[in-house]
Amino acid sequence: MVKKKAIAIARERIDILIRMALDTASENVSDAESYVKLAWRIAEKFNIRGKTILRRYFRCSKCKNFLIPGYSCRIRILKKRGLGVICMKCGKLKIIPIFNEEIISRTARLKAGIGS
Ligand SMILES: [Zn+2]
Repeated sequence: MVKKKAIAIARERIDILIRMALDTASENVSDAESYVKLAWRIAEKFNIRGKTILRRYFRCSKCKNFLIPGYSCRIRILKKRGLGVICMKCGKLKIIPIFNEEIISRTARLKAGIGS
């Protein structure tokens, strides 16, 4: 029970840190990076699901640079391939598949569920 509470608190803190990082990125990129680093450390310690989001959107797999959309990475929509996240430091392109048929059918099912 204690661990469940700790994980809930950790999740909340990760959310707050990511929001703070996105807010302060326009003024101070190094501060934003430190917030993301802290969020990453919390996620690592408690081994929680938020880690996937952090890995996908806030960390380069090649140079381990912390990516903040619009400041240290560019996000593009690639035709038929998905979202492209390009690291501005090393130029690594990471593709996140969003045009997957499974995902599209799942969202269609969700919409049908909301409509009925
Ligand atoms: Zn990189």
